[in-house]
Amino acid sequence: MFEPSYLSLYKSGELEKRVAALNGLLAECEICPRKCRVNRLESDSGFCRSGRQARVSSYCDHHGEEPVLSGPKGSGTIFFSGCNMRCSYCQNYQISQAMESGDSHINSVELANVMLYLQEKLQCHNINLVSPTHYVPQIVEAVFYATGKGLRLPIVYNTNAYDSTSTLKLLDGIVDIYLPDIKYSSDEWAVKFSQGKDYVMQSRRAIVEMYRQVGNLVIDSSGIAQRGLIVRHLILPNGISGSADSLEWLAENISRTVTVSIMAQYHPSYLANSEPVLSRRISHDEYRQVVSMVERLGLENGWLQEMDASDYYLPDFERQSHPFQIK
Ligand code: SF4
Repeated sequence: MFEPSYLSLYKSGELEKRVAALNGLLAECEICPRKCRVNRLESDSGFCRSGRQARVSSYCDHHGEEPVLSGPKGSGTIFFSGCNMRCSYCQNYQISQAMESGDSHINSVELANVMLYLQEKLQCHNINLVSPTHYVPQIVEAVFYATGKGLRLPIVYNTNAYDSTSTLKLLDGIVDIYLPDIKYSSDEWAVKFSQGKDYVMQSRRAIVEMYRQVGNLVIDSSGIAQRGLIVRHLILPNGISGSADSLEWLAENISRTVTVSIMAQYHPSYLANSEPVLSRRISHDEYRQVVSMVERLGLENGWLQEMDASDYYLPDFERQSHPFQIK
């Protein structure tokens, strides 16, 4: 019988202490590597434009995630607005940057009720937090309230990996499944296309800490993820994502047994059409090179997204009830 890691922290009183510690960070915010040091209890003037309350764009049973997350009943996905990066090709730009989806400010009790709705009404396999980094205090407070009312699903932390290790340490024993991107192996591209200063160092440190906490992926007898690390890598055109370097780093510094999800769905969204190197989909040749690299390194756990699967993943956040149109 699965028991989420946060349940023992709830019973011992540690989860409530984490809520207090994390809420204290909002007064001079250093929750992510940007260290804006703004008082989010009074304003939303930091880089992520997020204040005291979480902003949620939508939530649903999502069937387009990796098979171990979606399963037959869907991944209970909560899309947060705002972001601590600015990817010029972001497929979620409507909620991450344009903030135009008609989102709601909700307090932590309301966020807890969303989690319980995904568990009880939609019967989802997990709580999948999309772009959670800037809302870690609000999320942990909501997990605390929801646990008291019966939340028992694994928590999935679905992040761009621009996370600070000190904040991640406060999530130790709360998050069951870490789902970070590894976006770049060049800080030059990370700054140019995502405004992510020191992204390579920050993301690699974050992934090391995530792996320390949860280790390799564990799935249950019906093929549903319960705990562990899954690293996503989106292939960008013209080598911008530095696939070879990132995959080599994973194999050598995490493990050849780490679970990787290679994504071929890149589509020039948002501002990407005005950047010549980002204005097309990846080629078959670029795709085959990454597949060969995965095989050469002996990374045997995970998924390779087919190139013709690309449309499936494109969300439309104007369609509030279910941003992903299943084809
Ligand atoms: S969470 Fe937001 S306000 Fe806080 S440091 Fe990061 S970008 Fe700045």
